[in-house]
Amino acid sequence: MAEPIPEVRSIEELVGRDSLRELCRSTYELFGVSIRILSARDSLLADVHREAQVCTYVNDFPSGRRACGRVVGEASSLRPEQSAECVDCFVGARYVVEPIVHDGRPVGRVVLGPYRRPEAQVGSALTVACPEADPTVVRERLQALPAFEDAAARRITAHLRRVLELLALSGHRALAAQQMQIASVRQSYRELAEKNEKLEKAYARLQELDRLKSNFLATISHELRTPLTSILGYAEMLTSGMAGEMNEEQLEFARTIHAKGEQLLRLISSLLDLTRLEQGAVQLRREPVDVRRLLEEVRSTVQPKAQDKGVRLDVECHCEHRPHVVHADEVALGQVLTNLVDNAIKFTPEGGTVRLVAQPVEIEVEPESSAEQPAMGLALFAATRPGIEFIVEDTGIGIPADALAHIFDAFYQVDGSSTRVHQGAGLGLSIVKRLVDAMDGDIEVDSEPGRGTRFRVVVPDAPPADEPV
Ligand code: ADP
Repeated sequence: MAEPIPEVRSIEELVGRDSLRELCRSTYELFGVSIRILSARDSLLADVHREAQVCTYVNDFPSGRRACGRVVGEASSLRPEQSAECVDCFVGARYVVEPIVHDGRPVGRVVLGPYRRPEAQVGSALTVACPEADPTVVRERLQALPAFEDAAARRITAHLRRVLELLALSGHRALAAQQMQIASVRQSYRELAEKNEKLEKAYARLQELDRLKSNFLATISHELRTPLTSILGYAEMLTSGMAGEMNEEQLEFARTIHAKGEQLLRLISSLLDLTRLEQGAVQLRREPVDVRRLLEEVRSTVQPKAQDKGVRLDVECHCEHRPHVVHADEVALGQVLTNLVDNAIKFTPEGGTVRLVAQPVEIEVEPESSAEQPAMGLALFAATRPGIEFIVEDTGIGIPADALAHIFDAFYQVDGSSTRVHQGAGLGLSIVKRLVDAMDGDIEVDSEPGRGTRFRVVVPDAPPADEPV
């Protein structure tokens, strides 16, 4: 709601003093008569005049000065409400006082004069007010005043009044518009503040829900793991014949229970890993990792799967010129690579190839503050730190461009249908991403549907603080 415009009491609240002065000046230039504009509070807002010779003359006499003061006092104390009024001076000159009205109320006045009416005579008023003055001199000097019929003088003041009232009206409109604008800005600000508050509350609630979800997943996963370990143990005992001889069909059932149980255990472990990573409960280590050995371990873990699927697995370590040791968390690195290679094999059809490559790299260090910004021309010498790069590429089905932005989200699968061919819960890559982030590393993906996918992981070589790089 727009706030009401405060009641206007005086002309200067709506019209600037510069405009008032300009109006007096142009009127003076046109008619050569003095003009003053007074506020409703009696202050002089604009005044353009030249002292008339007759005034200078009578002001030289003490009685004349006093009489003059009385006339000026009378003219300024006159407060006509609706139409102009006159004040006569003892030398035969005259003033017109015209009210300026806004919204039915006088908000100031225009005083025009002294001027001389053509028929004006120097009379007895002069002798009474200033006996020392010579009437002939006064008469002579009175002639120098601008001469107007009363009607003409009143037309001038009426014209000034109309102009001033119009100026006041447009000032009022501008004020109203400004007031409305301020009110609407205030309103928008209030709405924004309310929305912001709601958003903050929603965000806090989401954070709380996220925390509850993580806690729930962690508890459930933990509680599921214990009975599942027993199921797996009993299934193993059954298949090993500890509970007596079984026929081929019974054995097959026991093996299925074991295989499905293991699958379930992997899912539960992934859920636990993810929730622990989300809660920041994973403490990564900085230990020396032999890259060649790590690659061999990954190879031996995934080789059977590659063989079963008829996918060729190439593992290369291009670490000839550098020691094969980097400082990182070996378990986390192994989990990242196994997951990526496992996916690559899973999504590559028979006859395809999966490559796992490791090589040392220099990682550019982003300057943290402007003080560390390299000077112009020295960008070539930007700071770098040693790291290790792993590439996992395949000649598989690829990932559509619109899915690339989501593959690191938990539970996301490009084919999320219940009829999908490939197993999985959509947790692997989100764990990979969080592990890489936790190692202060970086992961990128490039893919072309039908041609294959390439993941690039870069992890800094992070020796413990007291060890030289
Ligand atoms: P999942 O358990 O489904 O493998 P991930 O988080 O590991 O879950 O992967 C998420 C999704 O990303 C997969 O379901 C798959 O659609 C896609 N994806 C991951 N790696 C590859 C790859 N090498 N080739 C094609 N698609 C892939």
